[in-house]
Amino acid sequence: MSLRTDAVKHVSHEKAASPDVRATKITAIFGESVFSIKVAREFLSDEAYKSLLNSFKGSKKIDRAVASQIATGIRAWAESKGVTHYTHWFQPLTGSTAEKHDSFFTLKSDGTAIEEFDGAALIQQEPDASSFPSGGLRATFEARGYSAWDPSSPPFIIEIGNGKTLCIPTIFVSYTGESLDYKAPLMKATEALNKAAVTVCNYFDKNVNKVTPTLGWEQEYFVIDEALVNARPDLIQCGRTVFGAAPAKGQQLEDHYFGSIPERVYAFMRDFENESYKLGIPLRTRHNEVAPAQFECAPIFEEVNIAVDHNILLMDVMTRIAKRHKLVVLLHEKPFAGINGSGKHNNWSLATDTGVNLLAPGKTPKTNLMFLTFFVNTIKAVHDYADILRASIASASNDFRLGANEAPPAIISVFVGEYLTKVLQDVESRVGTKFDEQDEAILKLDLHRSIPELLLDNTDRNRTSPFAFTGNKFEFRAVGSTANCSHPMTILNTIVADTLVKFAQEVDALIEKGDKKEIAIMQVIQKYIVSSKKILFEGDGYSEEWHKEAEKRGLPNLKTTPVALDAMVTEKAKKLFKDNNIYTHSELEARYEIELEKYIKKVQIEARIMGDLATNHIIPAAIKYQNELLKNVSLLREAALPEKLYKGQLTLLKDVSTHIQQVYDNVHAMVEERKVANNIEHSRDKAIAYESKVKAQYFDKIRYHVDKLEQLVDDELWTLPKYRELLFLR
Ligand code: ADP
Ligand code: MG
Repeated sequence: MSLRTDAVKHVSHEKAASPDVRATKITAIFGESVFSIKVAREFLSDEAYKSLLNSFKGSKKIDRAVASQIATGIRAWAESKGVTHYTHWFQPLTGSTAEKHDSFFTLKSDGTAIEEFDGAALIQQEPDASSFPSGGLRATFEARGYSAWDPSSPPFIIEIGNGKTLCIPTIFVSYTGESLDYKAPLMKATEALNKAAVTVCNYFDKNVNKVTPTLGWEQEYFVIDEALVNARPDLIQCGRTVFGAAPAKGQQLEDHYFGSIPERVYAFMRDFENESYKLGIPLRTRHNEVAPAQFECAPIFEEVNIAVDHNILLMDVMTRIAKRHKLVVLLHEKPFAGINGSGKHNNWSLATDTGVNLLAPGKTPKTNLMFLTFFVNTIKAVHDYADILRASIASASNDFRLGANEAPPAIISVFVGEYLTKVLQDVESRVGTKFDEQDEAILKLDLHRSIPELLLDNTDRNRTSPFAFTGNKFEFRAVGSTANCSHPMTILNTIVADTLVKFAQEVDALIEKGDKKEIAIMQVIQKYIVSSKKILFEGDGYSEEWHKEAEKRGLPNLKTTPVALDAMVTEKAKKLFKDNNIYTHSELEARYEIELEKYIKKVQIEARIMGDLATNHIIPAAIKYQNELLKNVSLLREAALPEKLYKGQLTLLKDVSTHIQQVYDNVHAMVEERKVANNIEHSRDKAIAYESKVKAQYFDKIRYHVDKLEQLVDDELWTLPKYRELLFLR
């Protein structure tokens, strides 16, 4: 019996597991595995608590003596929960998370066994991390990487089986200070944005001391039965199917979207939600997505650094909990051809410490002007740095999604809705006329009364936009489902910070020349509207016309990662990141190298899997069928039947033989191209070769013939689970 038939049989016996749900109320378990500020109050001395609170708010460093007190408190709490080990938890550039577990257990000099966790262990750890990608940074500086505590993200406990581990969120940097992870740059960008935004806020409100970017992500994913996945080497190794003919029924009926959640999946959801609640992840929505077996979950938005940690944690929790239910979560952007892919919309806004959402239209002319300021500056930032924003979401797996006709295109544009388009046009149309104080353009921005209209306007019509204003936030929809949101959020925060800094400079210059503040602000806003107009697009982003129109407007349409990444290392990018203190030139170059390398490896692995499946699964199955046909035809011939009675078999034989030969030839040619690509030294050239010579030339071609064979060969001989089984059995 083949793995496939075995797996299919298996699925029909699987029952929904009962989820491990102790409490009916979420609030009863929410955050129970987190060393929150509230828990800290209970376990720390006044001094230690105050110090932690200050650094939690990002204002003060913790000194070593106090750190030891905090560490002792954290250990006491963790031990009360049955924790024996701790780890520094960080986000290396590989895209997952890393941990190195140490136990609290240690021996005193006289051999007495004790449990210990001191300040030094809390603050800093030197992981044996030489194999994490560093783009040559650590080699260059002859230094090791170490992880350093990020007190703004609270420690938490991860449960695996019966083991419990205390995780300390950390940044990962080289000894000479270069960042080697995703978190450190995000924290820098958040700080840059805070500074710039507070300056601009203070034009309107002197009480604002802090501005925090907020992030609410929406995670899309597929859930497939584990036994079926285990029979698909491509899913195991690449997270996506490299072959598979379209099933008779795909997503054309869109019945999955409206349907109820299947029982096994539902049990799984409740289980992972429960785990997430314990970890303080504020999940709020769950629902089916458009494609069969596709789902989405989303939390309440949080401060960006915490939201990113929570997303990474969630992906990990989902993956682990799924195993308990004999299911597999596919986070890949495009696990199945011909069926919708998965994204991770990043809802982004700015919140002040006075409780104002800067991207929510205000209730008075003054707050309206503040809204308009941040709204227009964001558009201007996306306009000026569209190429860098595009690069921030580039990956081998997201390439399958962007530019296909069901996801935001690779062209970056901004959707603002009809009402705000009119507002912008109003302001713009006054070019040349000077604003005066009674100006209606300021006073008549009657935005708050139009809020219902705004929301209506912005909920439905933006589906095809990569960057859409949705009433009180921007939604960056082109982010891929596997991505660490940290990188796109670092870039978005940086480009908005940079734009706001320049905005304030221009406003100040006008004020110095004698303009009144509001008038000066209005002048610069108007200038920005004019200069960033071409990034605005309200139409269908999937359409052919938009691609033509975008080209006319001079908007880049970079469909593949190796070319999209160029934007990371232009002079413009180097200046942007240096000016705002996010990346040094060498850090930027290193990151660029790492991204190229990741791309090359991903395509290389996929190409190998294709070759492997074609040679070890597809061709053998097809040959068996070919032999059956041959036997059949020769017996018919022996029986002296007229050929017109087995013309069908002869055609089948010819078709099967043709496709076998095509698969063979193309796999062979692809392997040769891979050899050529592997000998290329320069990483950009190598990535381009992998993209244009290996992937673009052969992936679709090989797949075409394999999928044809799948439709011809006797079903009993086919070893790989088919789309109809993967997507519809559970
Ligand atoms: P939907 O898009 O499904 O209509 P919402 O607009 O309420 O639902 O929210 C979608 C996502 O946007 C949620 O993850 C939510 O937390 C997030 N979100 C809402 N407001 C903000 C904000 N001010 N900043 C960041 N994210 C936000
Ligand atoms: Mg949404």
